[in-house]
Amino acid sequence: MKEIRKYVLKRSSIYVTVFTLSLLSTSCGKKEGAIISASRNNNIATSHIDLLDDEFSEEDKEKEEFALKKSEERYADYKKRREEAIEQKIKQELYEMCSTLIHKESKMFQYIEENHEQYIDFYIQNKSMSPKDVILNVNIKNCEVLPYYNNEYKDRYVTYHKNNPEIPIDKIIVYVNIGLDTPFYSNTKDIENPYSDLIIANKYNKLPADFVPNGYDKNIDRDLSIKGIASEAFKEMKQAAKEEGLYISSVSAYRSYNYQESVYWRQSKLDEFFSSSKRRKNLSEEQIKEYRAWRDNVSAREGHSEHQTGLAVDINSTSESFAKTPEGKWLADNSYKYGYILRYPKGKEHITGYDYEPWHFRYIGVKMATAVYESGLTYDEFHAMFIEPILRKDPKTSELSSDDFYNLHVEKVFNQYASPQTEEELIMTSKTR
Ligand SMILES: [Zn+2]
Repeated sequence: MKEIRKYVLKRSSIYVTVFTLSLLSTSCGKKEGAIISASRNNNIATSHIDLLDDEFSEEDKEKEEFALKKSEERYADYKKRREEAIEQKIKQELYEMCSTLIHKESKMFQYIEENHEQYIDFYIQNKSMSPKDVILNVNIKNCEVLPYYNNEYKDRYVTYHKNNPEIPIDKIIVYVNIGLDTPFYSNTKDIENPYSDLIIANKYNKLPADFVPNGYDKNIDRDLSIKGIASEAFKEMKQAAKEEGLYISSVSAYRSYNYQESVYWRQSKLDEFFSSSKRRKNLSEEQIKEYRAWRDNVSAREGHSEHQTGLAVDINSTSESFAKTPEGKWLADNSYKYGYILRYPKGKEHITGYDYEPWHFRYIGVKMATAVYESGLTYDEFHAMFIEPILRKDPKTSELSSDDFYNLHVEKVFNQYASPQTEEELIMTSKTR
């Protein structure tokens, strides 16, 4: 076989050579004749095209164009369907990957079944993200509808959600709004309108050192002062308790910035902690840190005490056993009717930053206090959900009375978004009473 092929190749190359040589000899010396014959050939070709064209009617041409167009459409359709099939395949793969992840990591983060399609869509648009981050981001993205969602905190929400998978997703938003994603006394903000009845003084919100509440009543109980509006309410509450045969009295109310500082660094407390006589000014940085870690749970640092607002009172006794007294129980159940709330409830220490204080009450107005009481939320949560977002949009609203603020800005949103206490929470709350 090979031999034959070689022979054929050899023969054909000889023919090509002979043909080329004959062409060269024809063109040489016969230039003019060649031009004439070329133009004649051209005419023949043109008439040939005309003949061919005649064979094709206009109708035929239209048919041809139609056929071409059809095939283009079919091609476009094929391309589209192919792309869809590829996307479907990717989706299927991602779907399976996400599904595998649910089984693997369902306990590690919140895979919300109804978001499944969203996770996958988000994943397709953000292919560099890990499936876990996709889930975290989609979960947070779905919180954008919440009236207290703050877009500036988006990254903080995602990070906090990632680090605290056991915290329900709506609480993630609330806790970050409070500031709980960073340690207490970090990222502190200066309170803009300390005269507002809606004020929140806590471990993230600081009062000015020279702030003194206006219009406070210095004669409420044992010369302990409190703001007028809160004072009136306190007297009413005291009277109502009296009618039940109970005696309530304020043992600590307004405290200045400097006084709070002295309370925090009280010598008897230093002695108790160090079990030896140590002066504040002689403490090392390490010792200060240790003392703070112990003292912070029960006492506020200067500028962060609710007592400086002139809207807080400690009642009867500052011992946890007060909760079990008839007065303690009555206050827990009834104070909201007079505009007071239990500010540091049991089981909420991680939010308030304080141990349970059954004696510490804060005046926030009857309507607001009723809502806080019914929701089972701490004031820190309530403020972060229903008050701060309004103040952020319009700082002037801080000048409104608590009741007006509630009627205008809280009531509707509160009824829509405050989830009632869960069974578990109700049991827990009733136990503390
Ligand atoms: Zn107190």
